Amino acid sequence: MIIVFLGAPGSGKGTQASRLAARRHMVHLSTGDLLREARARGTPLGRLAAEHLDAGRLVPDDLVAGLVAERLNEGDDFLLDGFPRNISQAARLDDLIREAGQTLAAVVFFEVPEGELVRRLVKRARSDDTPDTIRRRLHVYAEETAPLIAHYEDRGVLRRVAGVGDIEEIAARVARAVGDEGEALTWPLPALD
Ligand code: AMP
Repeated sequence: MIIVFLGAPGSGKGTQASRLAARRHMVHLSTGDLLREARARGTPLGRLAAEHLDAGRLVPDDLVAGLVAERLNEGDDFLLDGFPRNISQAARLDDLIREAGQTLAAVVFFEVPEGELVRRLVKRARSDDTPDTIRRRLHVYAEETAPLIAHYEDRGVLRRVAGVGDIEEIAARVARAVGDEGEALTWPLPALD
């Protein structure tokens, strides 16, 4: 079973993905983390990705899809955080899911007002979060990633979650949003701590 987390940079999807993946024993695949790690290790892929990461642009679809393809398998449950990022990656994901004998259970979309996103990104200020890259990343999100909301809504798999408030509150909303996925998930859920 595969759950996709969709949201703008700063929407909190990474934080919530770590929590849900740990609680439900899912493999957390963050393409942003994998790319930053590859860059830090200086691998060939990391070197190819570096200029895109630094500019706040999307890394080419083939590179990112390759990272996901290498890791998907039939036996585990996966939480995809940051992939797909555009319509063509969504089509790639459909192929990868089919090849891996998996199913797409839900796409959780984190709704956060833009002003709040900017506040969070400025506060977080990772190495790829300079004012210019923040602006670029939000623009890329609006142009390329936001169309995925309607795409998955049309397919009936989109679950909207309000991404504002405290982390525990949001985690409870996420748990409710993915709470009816059947026995593929671990029941009963441990209490929210
Ligand atoms: P994130 O940590 O998900 O915000 O991603 C950080 C950066 O990694 C993005 O600004 C992109 O440059 C790159 N990245 C992450 N996921 C993808 C993806 N699915 N496709 C293309 N680039 C990506």
